[in-house]
Amino acid sequence: MARYIYDYAEAAGLGRDLLGGKGAGLSEMTAIGLPVPPGFIIATSASVEYMNNGHELPDGVKEEVAKYVTRLEKTTGTRFGYPDDPLLVSVRSGGAISMPGMMDTILNLGLNDETTEGLARKTQNRRFAYDAYRRLIQMFGNVVEGVDAELFEGEIRTALRRNGVSREIDLSPEELSELIERFKRVYADSTGWEFPQDPAVQLTRAIRAVLESWDSPRANVYRQANGISDTLGTAVNVVQMVFGNKGEGSGTGVAFTRNPSTGERGMWGEYLSNAQGEDSVSGARTPEPLEAMRERLPEAHEQLLEAGDTLERHYRDMQDIEFTVEEGHLYLLQTRSGKRTAAAALKIGVDMVDEGLIGRDEVVKRIEPSRLDDILHPTINPDIEHQVIAIGLNASPGAAVGRVVMDADKAEEWGRRGEDVILVRWETTPDDIHGLIQARGVLTVHGGMTSHAAVVARGMGKPCVVGCGDLVIDIENRSLSISGRNLVEGDVITINGATGEVIAGAAELVPPEIDPNMETVLSWADACRDLSVYANADSAEDAARAREFGAQGIGLCRTEHMFMAPDRLGKVRAMIMATSEIERRKHLDALLPMQQSDFEGIFLAMEGLPVTIRLLDPPLHEFLPRLEDAETPEMAARIKSLTEANPMLGTRGCRIGLMYPEIYEMQVRAIIRAAHVAEAKTGKAPLVEIMYPLVAFAAEFRRLRDLTDRVAAEENAGEYRVGTMIELPSACMRAGEIAELADFLSFGTNDLTQTTLGFSRDDAEGRFLSYYLGHHVLDANPFETLDIDGVGELMRIAVERARKVKPDIKIGICGEHGGDPASVAFCHRLGLDYVSCSPYRVPLARLAAGQAAVAGNPA
Ligand code: PEP
Ligand code: MG
Repeated sequence: MARYIYDYAEAAGLGRDLLGGKGAGLSEMTAIGLPVPPGFIIATSASVEYMNNGHELPDGVKEEVAKYVTRLEKTTGTRFGYPDDPLLVSVRSGGAISMPGMMDTILNLGLNDETTEGLARKTQNRRFAYDAYRRLIQMFGNVVEGVDAELFEGEIRTALRRNGVSREIDLSPEELSELIERFKRVYADSTGWEFPQDPAVQLTRAIRAVLESWDSPRANVYRQANGISDTLGTAVNVVQMVFGNKGEGSGTGVAFTRNPSTGERGMWGEYLSNAQGEDSVSGARTPEPLEAMRERLPEAHEQLLEAGDTLERHYRDMQDIEFTVEEGHLYLLQTRSGKRTAAAALKIGVDMVDEGLIGRDEVVKRIEPSRLDDILHPTINPDIEHQVIAIGLNASPGAAVGRVVMDADKAEEWGRRGEDVILVRWETTPDDIHGLIQARGVLTVHGGMTSHAAVVARGMGKPCVVGCGDLVIDIENRSLSISGRNLVEGDVITINGATGEVIAGAAELVPPEIDPNMETVLSWADACRDLSVYANADSAEDAARAREFGAQGIGLCRTEHMFMAPDRLGKVRAMIMATSEIERRKHLDALLPMQQSDFEGIFLAMEGLPVTIRLLDPPLHEFLPRLEDAETPEMAARIKSLTEANPMLGTRGCRIGLMYPEIYEMQVRAIIRAAHVAEAKTGKAPLVEIMYPLVAFAAEFRRLRDLTDRVAAEENAGEYRVGTMIELPSACMRAGEIAELADFLSFGTNDLTQTTLGFSRDDAEGRFLSYYLGHHVLDANPFETLDIDGVGELMRIAVERARKVKPDIKIGICGEHGGDPASVAFCHRLGLDYVSCSPYRVPLARLAAGQAAVAGNPA
């Protein structure tokens, strides 16, 4: 029979896939001698079986659980259901990949009417024992039986009111005992049966509930958003209870071995005195900083610091630790790799290399490239005074402007239709996850830096402000008041997750500063990578920004973008509308100096680095006047004759240049003249690459190459190269023939995706593609992440055929995929020379290219 259950003392090294993250962490900590309460794990394989078997526990699991409970009784010297010294356990979920707060936990199992009295006698603390029992009924009722949490909360409020106290902690044992009776009634009324007194029954039902929670709607949404497979399953941890709520010598907290927001060295965390673990994680009570623990319990605090060091040395990574102190004794209840901001990840990586804990390659490997986006996000312009209306805790950096929405469903709805929204809540719970995903930022009244909102937003790289006590939410009237100012849902606010500030209206955002740690890590990635990283830039400013981010050249300068400026559009329109060559040439002559000065600016900014200029590829409809604006019948006739049913597959790219060669002649002339000017100014010739779009046949390219060489000769050109984009399946198949004539090739994977899949670039994403993604027909948007088996296969064929005739031909990619980490990795495997992406994505592409190389060269 398959084995499903493992004791912590024997499970170290079996891995998180089987044990789940929490189980693996507890087993490791047990093995290295850290104080962990004893317990056992029901492996993830049982959860997988449970799901596959129509929600039945696998054969033998129940009996095995009983055996392990007996072992636990022996280890702890306590017994399940025995009033004199009852064994009490918690039942916790724990998948292989952490899903904070998404699945269920039940505490204090093993309490019933009798054992509660026993616990009261043993601890000489009736208040504590009764409080533990009422928590069990509440949690068990809510989690296992689905009893409405509000019914229990309502009873608590009534008890507080009736007894004239404001905190549960102030209820007397007698009052708690009464509350227990009321809870039992709520339980029985809601479920139709009594709260189970038999601990074995409690345990089996709790285990089932945890297994069920893997499939809950919120867990499913979280997995989908984070790309976690539905088939992994969760482990179930059954652990002896330790109590943080036994008085002022007890408490609970969460500690990070380094600051998860900034990466600063030194333990950072929060502590709640006289409380049980869930109180701090749920954000229901606002905890104090860890320093409060040092003052109250210096020994346990010191022990915690040492445990943190041991764990960092063991895992060689920053850890997020949950702990409880029971009457002065420290227990570690969980350790995992801590979630962190991108800035913190970079700082921690750089520091750990300094400390000799890890190597540079390891840092390059660890940082998720897309996280660099987080620190490249805009921040609030510090030079402008903003009206700060409240300040909360700075839970996750970055600034966000958006309209206030007050529940997750609305945030999802508005966000999906393209509105920028800020989700404003009393506090968030895992049920709000769909709203968090769509929101630009999150603002909560309650909760600390480790509350749900804070942890989740940090993980997503979203700006977040929590614990903003000046905010009063009136959910019924969909309004809020902040420091006396009233706002209604839909009003615009700005939050600054770096400072905790809340600002009325839309603040001006400015581009972020370059993070020196990012530069360090990127320089390590640069040292590993084989791919060059270029940028797609159409102006001198973009080119300059791209260079600041480390671009080694421009891989795509889209010249049609230069024609969209207001002072040029009219001339381009006139040129396109011209009915004779003479007329067209007249308009082109007017455009030439403008183009030339654009190119000069770009050449100067790039200082001799390669600049690939793509000649005009105009989706004609973007430049045609509207039919209703036609001033004459002739003009209307011309518009009609140029109108295309599918402009994305119409007279685009080189097709227009072959029909009207004077257009490309003008552009080549402007490029060569600009090169002369740049050379005269700097003494250095720019590295000019002229690139043609949408070539399908070698015959097209031959004519374009001839045109280029002829005009270049007329202009006394120095060195230049002529190449083509490969963005049609036909060009991939004919890459050998084309390469014979070309100096370089660049994959235009936007069009190659469109034409390979038959997905129109303009329409697919707003229409059927969301269905495809939602229903898992496709796992990723092929316009974002390269479709490796289809489009990628055509690329592979093209590279093979091109390199067969010209082994050293320079080949790159300049579609949007050039800034997507998975696609960059594929380009590395294909052996391309460079990737080219938008300037802000250059750092990400550098890191992704470094990672791809490190992955390909195992140490
Ligand atoms: C492409 O098609 O991938 C490309 C880079 O060109 P554009 O997006 O301008 O068509
Ligand atoms: Mg294209």
